[in-house]
Amino acid sequence: MNSIKFLEPTDFSEAISLLDQYADDAKIIAGGTSVVLMLQQKLIAPSVLISLGSMAGHDYIRMEDDGLHIGALAKIREIERSEIVQQFSPALAHTFHVVANVRVRNQATIGGNLSAADYAADPPAMLTALDARVQVQGPQGTREISLNEFFLGFYTTALEPNEILTEVIIPSLPASGRAAYHKYTSISAEGRPCVAVGVVADFDADGKCRNLRIAVGAATETPQRVSDAEAMAHGHMLTDEVIAPIVEGYARTLDPLTDVRGSAWYRKEMIRVFIKRALQEVRDGNR
Ligand SMILES: Cc1cc2nc3c(=O)[nH]c(=O)nc-3n(C[C@H](O)[C@H](O)[C@H](O)COP(=O)(O)OP(=O)(O)OC[C@H]3O[C@@H](n4cnc5c(N)ncnc54)[C@H](O)[C@@H]3O)c2cc1C
Repeated sequence: MNSIKFLEPTDFSEAISLLDQYADDAKIIAGGTSVVLMLQQKLIAPSVLISLGSMAGHDYIRMEDDGLHIGALAKIREIERSEIVQQFSPALAHTFHVVANVRVRNQATIGGNLSAADYAADPPAMLTALDARVQVQGPQGTREISLNEFFLGFYTTALEPNEILTEVIIPSLPASGRAAYHKYTSISAEGRPCVAVGVVADFDADGKCRNLRIAVGAATETPQRVSDAEAMAHGHMLTDEVIAPIVEGYARTLDPLTDVRGSAWYRKEMIRVFIKRALQEVRDGNR
């Protein structure tokens, strides 16, 4: 392996200047769990690594008026164990708890997880269902991107080459809001998801659904919502009779991929199973 220059900027502005300076020769590294594998497998060959790891003050997890704010360098393990996250949404804490294994979670960052845009990941589906957005910084300043528009395809995001993801913002749920995350793994309990389902719903005083968001991840290039199917819940109790056509709406509309974790046909079946379970969970208020 050729020698690689390892640069450690102290803030995002300096990191962005370095990205501008070294352009295609540079690669950002945060926790390194994905970048190191890519280097080992010779999938990338940067001459410069720009490490975010030694920047202080970007691993915060805090509530603000508009919701939960998580710094890009917060570790998955810190998010999973955070009392603030547990109180905000136990389903969100659970999502981070089921990522990989504890060694990976101790090292991996939320910014790295989302920027990698690996379809077989957990946080993207739950965060999409939660209507999260990311703040990114580039030479022209900062901008926010909804996660619905952030993931563009396999390993591709809306980040410009000289932009860095700096923060994830998750809007507060209404008082009656409930969320659930279901991960289905087909290979090992610690494996990446074959199908990932994030659900967020809120209910009126009579228990009728006011708003429903379902995001399915790991089955297609990017997390997918099917708005026609979601709308079927509005104004109804989430009975099994109401859930059935919503599930079918997703199974009919989504066009899953085939990989080592399952065929397209199998994924469609698992989408049916896990959307139903997640909807029953938000209805019954288990989590
Ligand atoms: C054995 C193993 C099992 C795994 N299982 C799962 C799983 O079950 N579920 C799951 O969701 N994930 C899983 N993963 C993926 C893991 O979660 C990601 O590798 C990790 O979250 C990436 O974070 P990182 O900080 O290590 O990123 P890095 O490896 O440092 O970077 C990843 C990518 O993001 C870019 N990047 C990093 N930070 C930023 C930033 N702030 N702004 C812009 N670009 C940035 C890098 O240039 C690189 O392209 C697994 C990984 C391994 C190695």
